[in-house]
Amino acid sequence: MLIPAEYRLINGSRLDAVPACLYRARANSHARQLAQADWLIRERSSGIYIATLQGSGLRFLKRSPAAQQRFEAVNELLAAADGAASHLSLTDLEPLHAELGIDAEAYSRQVGLSAVPEPVQLEYAGRDCFRRPLWLAYDAAKAWARMQSAAVSDDVRLQAISGYRSAHYQMGIFRRKSARGIPLHDILAVNAAPGFSEHHSGRAIDIGTPGEAPALESFENTPAFDWLNRNAAAFGFRMSYARGNAHGISYEPWHWFWIGSDQD
Ligand SMILES: [Zn+2]
Repeated sequence: MLIPAEYRLINGSRLDAVPACLYRARANSHARQLAQADWLIRERSSGIYIATLQGSGLRFLKRSPAAQQRFEAVNELLAAADGAASHLSLTDLEPLHAELGIDAEAYSRQVGLSAVPEPVQLEYAGRDCFRRPLWLAYDAAKAWARMQSAAVSDDVRLQAISGYRSAHYQMGIFRRKSARGIPLHDILAVNAAPGFSEHHSGRAIDIGTPGEAPALESFENTPAFDWLNRNAAAFGFRMSYARGNAHGISYEPWHWFWIGSDQD
């Protein structure tokens, strides 16, 4: 059961559901349907809008020969919203790794990263600096809100550049780069393999500040970064990828991970 006007993102293995009011229609013909709906249901692998839910009324946005399959997928998604599972299964990653030709266990050993399960439910945490809805794990969202307002009291503005991202989103990055002829080895030097990004957990936030281009090393010279270094730990956040980190991941002064707080 999806309750109207709950600001959550709900993940099924193939589909997700988001509050319809947070998203714009991509086709004029869908604008009205979306405006009246409580929930928008999307295909996770492509981001394509599949259907809307208004109360218990399900309406598909496109006729599809695979309608039966879609009904099954929607039912599975609705069951996920009520289910006991807190995270998606890591076996969902196997087809992605097979497509890329990545041996997940060898990769994990090599870079010292573990696969990161995605939460079934994520909390709306306002909008990011691109005005996209920002999704975070529940406790991370609360900690982020507390940290942002504490920074404001010190005249420092922290902006989210990006929060939760799915393994499918990460897969899209790999597909686009591969299509441009970039070898897998070179992509892996910059991007974590799908399934291995801390962003999948809903506990990682790329943080920026107004007037500063997002996700650049120069963020380390801003008052915002200085403030984070002095205060983020008190809110349970730590910077994941320092200079010369053991994972061989490039220095990312903007990437912070919520490990939990002593205050809670
Ligand atoms: Zn990041």
